[in-house]
Amino acid sequence: MKAIVFEDFKTFPTLKEVEKPTPGPGEVLLKVAGAGACHSDVAVYNEFDKDGPGAIPPPFILGHENSGWIEDVGPGVTGFEKGGAYLVYGPIGCGKCRACSRGQDTYCENAATNPYLGIGLGRDGGMAEYVTVPVRNLVPLGDADPIAAAPLSDAALTPYHAIKNSLPNLNGGGRYALVIGLGGLGQIAVQILRALTGATIIATDMKPEAMAKAAELGAITVEGGAGQVERIREITGGKGVDAAFDFVGAGPTVAVAAGSMGRMGRCTIVGIAGGSYEWSFFTTPYESTLTNTYWGTIEDLHEVVDMYKAGQIMPEIERYSLDDGLEAYRKLQAGELSGRAVVVP
Ligand code: NAD
Ligand code: ZN
Repeated sequence: MKAIVFEDFKTFPTLKEVEKPTPGPGEVLLKVAGAGACHSDVAVYNEFDKDGPGAIPPPFILGHENSGWIEDVGPGVTGFEKGGAYLVYGPIGCGKCRACSRGQDTYCENAATNPYLGIGLGRDGGMAEYVTVPVRNLVPLGDADPIAAAPLSDAALTPYHAIKNSLPNLNGGGRYALVIGLGGLGQIAVQILRALTGATIIATDMKPEAMAKAAELGAITVEGGAGQVERIREITGGKGVDAAFDFVGAGPTVAVAAGSMGRMGRCTIVGIAGGSYEWSFFTTPYESTLTNTYWGTIEDLHEVVDMYKAGQIMPEIERYSLDDGLEAYRKLQAGELSGRAVVVP
């Protein structure tokens, strides 16, 4: 079968012929419906250093945002029908520790000795005609469209988890949320904030088209550049935002996210650009929190699917064939995409 393979650090992936996988015990073989291209893949193949933080040793097939139809089941698997449509929860922990038991494989207590982080992150992913998935990682889609659903497993799950943790800050009336970076994750973050909170949403991106889309969803948009924090504070009547979500994570965006916080606010850095922030008692709003987050839980993913079925999350996708999949990564890397690129083999 054809697949998009990460073969070496700082090297653009390749489209090549690989062996069709066979599901192992407790696994199914999915015929891939859709595989979303996430900016984290660009970090994996282009930005991380072999011995630096974040590095995942190649080779493996990319694609950690997957959906598909059951084609075959491995030894011992019962109760799954061929043709059933599923979304794939990507993280794979040890499956036995307390974190994994609550469906939070992302924070597996045995991560240091696990063979990989997840599907498409160390283990072969969905940028291929077929992918194998442990049954524990399957979330049923029923009759919902599996292709547009593919981005749910990261581009919606990750902002959903961050927003869910910030709900105490956002519910209560007169609240403000800030979203920085309106790409694959950020656009869905605006949709989730609108569905789950009554907060006024302030959004920013360096691309005017991305801001226009957020404005269509009801966000107040603020251009970047000098004076941005002052303009954001002005919108909030001077108090600052109650929750900020930075889907870029570079030094300048972390500074805007943290600098826009109000008292008791919560600032979550989701983007992995590696920016840092200097903390000081006298400039930090009282009891505000600066934190980060990694993906979400399988329970969160079930909730995300419910929101998708209810029409509250509507991923905007650009379809690519597997043969054109490398073009999707080229455009993602160059910042030329307008919706989430989904490879449809
Ligand atoms: P994307 O390329 O689809 O979108 C990024 C958006 O940010 C684009 O619209 C771009 O114009 C905008 N942007 C870039 N630099 C900016 C700046 N300086 N100021 C304002 N806007 C800027 O990327 P994505 O797939 O949505 O991923 C976003 C980030 O989240 C990436 O860093 C990715 O690696 C990370 N990520 C983290 C997790 C996690 O679990 N923490 C999960 C998935 C993705
Ligand atoms: Zn575990």
